[in-house]
Amino acid sequence: MAAFRRDERDRLCFGHDRKEYGMEKILIIDDSPVQANFLSSILVPDYEVTVVNTAKEGLEQAKAVDYSLILLDVIMPGMDGFQLLKMLQEEVVLRHTPVILITSLNDIQHEEQGLTLGAVDYITKPFHPAIVRARVNTHIKLHLYRSQIEREATVDQLTGVPNRRRYDEVSVQRWQEAIRLGVPFSICMFDIDKFKVYNDTFGHPAGDKVIKAVAETAAVMLRRGTDFFARYGGEEFVALILGGGSDNDFSHLRKIRQAVEDLHIPHNPEVSQWVTVSIGGITVLPKAESSFDTYLKMADAMLYDAKRFGRNQVVWTNERMEQRLEKK
Ligand code: GH3
Ligand code: MG
Ligand code: MG
Repeated sequence: MAAFRRDERDRLCFGHDRKEYGMEKILIIDDSPVQANFLSSILVPDYEVTVVNTAKEGLEQAKAVDYSLILLDVIMPGMDGFQLLKMLQEEVVLRHTPVILITSLNDIQHEEQGLTLGAVDYITKPFHPAIVRARVNTHIKLHLYRSQIEREATVDQLTGVPNRRRYDEVSVQRWQEAIRLGVPFSICMFDIDKFKVYNDTFGHPAGDKVIKAVAETAAVMLRRGTDFFARYGGEEFVALILGGGSDNDFSHLRKIRQAVEDLHIPHNPEVSQWVTVSIGGITVLPKAESSFDTYLKMADAMLYDAKRFGRNQVVWTNERMEQRLEKK
């Protein structure tokens, strides 16, 4: 019975088979266990529901798990729903999680206050189960659309790896993280060798396939939580590695360079046998006063040297500009 209802709801609300998404998670924050459990019983056939009974627990839970919706009671001892709502809005990762206030405060002033603070909806108690379900479904659906659009805006269409826009955001975050943790940080620039000739020889669509293959090869070798790999633009990519260190990262990037060569994609024979990449990188121990852009420029200078020294190679450095060459 429950499964049938979920399927039916999926077709109605999502227009697709739910399985590809999994069950959306909802957090209920209400100091009254009776109220919370009643609310939960309405939603549990369709959603994965978690119940907590204080605002403090609610905040911790919301930070720990990626919820698609939060149902928040207003009157609670200690921190109330309005205060918690304000805190949720201030958390960068929670700013886009929709919050519905569910309260016995049924006057216009409180409703206005809640909606102004950023709640997406305001439901007064006693509530009608069907109405709550319908409103919840609507907000979950909007949230899924929003997440999908955001994902699409940050992923490069051709290769499926993060795009330049995403890189701009992540590079700042990772750099700050490395400073905070006091760990080494590597910046690596990739560029496909003699790619203009490739396009001129084999055509632009074939060139696109090469860009995709190179991206996929590098991406699977840079998929740790401390790695980040993005398309920087055209036939150029960038990798950021947190906490690896100069030796490890230089060695790993050499393996990636080799893996691209080992794809054995034929290039124009006048240029080289296979399609290859040149890589320039730098490992630094970032300090609060150091500038990411300066080191990015240095990584770019290393890439320039890799090209100058004959392409298909990795050139590495550090903040003291001690250069290491893969091929001498
Ligand atoms: P180098 O070894 O010095 O990097 O030489 P190069 O020819 O790769 O460098 P250049 O910067 O002169 O040319 C880059 C080429 O990459 C030119 C451009 O047409 C091609 N390119 C950039 N973006 C794309 C793309 O999305 N698809 C395809 N097929 N080609 C692209
Ligand atoms: Mg280029
Ligand atoms: Mg190139």
